[in-house]
Amino acid sequence: MKKYYMAGNWKMHKTVSESVAMAEELKKVLAACPEKLLVAPAFTSLQAVATVLKGSNILLGAQNMGPEETGAHTGEVSVLMLKDLGVKAVILGHSERRHSYFENDELVNKKLLLALKHGLEPILCIGETLLERDSGKLEEVISRQLKDGLKNVKKPDLKQVTIAYEPVWAIGTGKTATPMDADAVHLYIRKLLAEMYSPEHSKAMCIQYGGSVKPENTRELMSMPNIDGALIGGASLNADSFVSIAMFRS
Ligand code: PEP
Repeated sequence: MKKYYMAGNWKMHKTVSESVAMAEELKKVLAACPEKLLVAPAFTSLQAVATVLKGSNILLGAQNMGPEETGAHTGEVSVLMLKDLGVKAVILGHSERRHSYFENDELVNKKLLLALKHGLEPILCIGETLLERDSGKLEEVISRQLKDGLKNVKKPDLKQVTIAYEPVWAIGTGKTATPMDADAVHLYIRKLLAEMYSPEHSKAMCIQYGGSVKPENTRELMSMPNIDGALIGGASLNADSFVSIAMFRS
């Protein structure tokens, strides 16, 4: 049976105590959830949430990381520090990082290779803006972000990587790509992956959809053949809605 990968990105929300309370609730309620689950709290809450989630079926994720292992990089958090806390996955190339903090594909790729080197599972976010979609550049943007983001990733490492297709115009806006539109882009990503690696690698790849996923639209989105999970922002901040999304099959 297909196992969906449901990941909650808490962004710059929740104090340590709020994060702990949420993690405790999720750990209890989702103990029998059949899906792969991840929550990505703010850096400040990682250690406390790691303690709560230890031994549970919910993985700990980070929302970003620095491109260097160590050194004089004021304000950055390194892959070694994340590993030390028990972090298993890291979200990279989120559109908010690309657009508000000017992260380009080269930087995202550098971080991704570093994450893989240290056994951290990257979630590589790619997606077009509304302007890019409306001007017919969707495939060009997706192709560039995917190919540049995965540059020098070798076949054996690919299974550690998750792709999150997140149309920028659907993030935090309440607008969701229709399941059919989203699936068409996921299919295009699979076509590219098949060319870059092999049809088998492409088929095995987990491709999440992200962009205003909520309890009401999860079942329909997940019913599409090329959608393997969700990266959830707003709706992951509330325990009830994240639980409904994670338990969409019940
Ligand atoms: C996100 O930030 O990755 C995201 C998909 O946000 P939202 O679910 O709020 O659209």
